Amino acid sequence: MLNVEKIRSEFPILTRDIRGKTLVYLDNAASTLKPTVVIDRISRYYNLETSNVHRGAHYLAEQGTIAFEDARETVRNFVGARDKNEIIFTRGTTESVNLVAHSWGEANLKAGDEILLSELEHHSNIVPWQIVAEKTGALIRVIPIDAHGDLDYDAYTKLLSSKTKMVSITATSNVLGTIVPVKKFVEAAHAQGAKILIDAAQAVSHQRVDVTAWDCDFLAFSGHKIYAPYGIGVLYGKAELLEAMPPYQGGGSMISEVTWEKTTWAAVPHKFEAGTPAIADAVGLKTGIDYVMNLGFEDIKAYKKEILAYAKSTLSEIPALTIIGSPKEQTSLVSFNLEGAHASDVGALVDQQGVAIRAGHHCCQPLMRKLGVPATARASFTIYNTLAEVDALKNSLLKAKEFI
Ligand SMILES: *Cc1c(COP(=O)(O)O)cnc(C)c1O
Repeated sequence: MLNVEKIRSEFPILTRDIRGKTLVYLDNAASTLKPTVVIDRISRYYNLETSNVHRGAHYLAEQGTIAFEDARETVRNFVGARDKNEIIFTRGTTESVNLVAHSWGEANLKAGDEILLSELEHHSNIVPWQIVAEKTGALIRVIPIDAHGDLDYDAYTKLLSSKTKMVSITATSNVLGTIVPVKKFVEAAHAQGAKILIDAAQAVSHQRVDVTAWDCDFLAFSGHKIYAPYGIGVLYGKAELLEAMPPYQGGGSMISEVTWEKTTWAAVPHKFEAGTPAIADAVGLKTGIDYVMNLGFEDIKAYKKEILAYAKSTLSEIPALTIIGSPKEQTSLVSFNLEGAHASDVGALVDQQGVAIRAGHHCCQPLMRKLGVPATARASFTIYNTLAEVDALKNSLLKAKEFI
């Protein structure tokens, strides 16, 4: 079992008072907090190790390059990739999807081709595809959800055809918590000869993603949702696809040789890492990944399951509160609405009690429209949250109701 008290002591921000009350942080699906080990690792990099990578002739530059490439190896192992050159550092999930949409999309899509997305998608897995569809004449089709908030697999297989060139779907919904059975979706895409990208932004904090077992073509995630810094993220891509893709951005570090006549590209992953990368953040990401791997996903999963079950039963005791979505498998987040109140008012009222939740469309406006609500309030729980904090949420909501 997770030692939650010990884990709490490793996150310094949890000792802060907010509005005179001890912080109850239930916005983990937006960003997780950072443990001391990660903060210290970044600080050590800047204090004692600062230097640029892949170019200096001196000791620190060499050590920096080793640390940066070691972070890449940690990510490779974490996502189960075969080769560390299949790991590209980006700024986050958003940049990873944009990279694939522009580089792979512009080289491979033509008028009449189809891109399949789903109703669960975050704007960062919609808008880049809309931009590339506009440029290439490809069409976007949308996999619906069922009444529970699960992706409708039968509808998906009917949408798939020889016109489908790319399927790009989330592994876990940031609004309903839906955990998508990814492997099944990958197999069906491949049976039609389509490529598939998995948005693992929410998935990485509750499960070991495994690109080899899933056999997905691309996978994207962000560091800041797995106890690591902002500004760093990952794109995994199968080597043969990355090698065939044109660069996304041009600049230093991504070239083999530059001449006025013709410039040639560096090998992957460097072809996709133009300019100086976020070195300290990559090293911090390694520390964040090591941190969760040391805790172990079996225990993390079991604890998240427990806290989700407690949160659902506790919140359902509140009159006039509706929980939105009831997927077959759900990560530890709950979207809800209070009758007669806009979600953002609910968010502001519980904030007065020191309870941090998210309220709004969660970057999923098409999903809000499908659900028929303008917004939801969302409480998302992770390894340092306690059952007592679920009670604090309930009490803050009961108090909020007095003002509604
Ligand atoms: C957070 C999130 C994103 C976007 O991540 P960024 O870090 O903002 O790039 C994409 N998809 C899902 C499911 C998310 O939860």
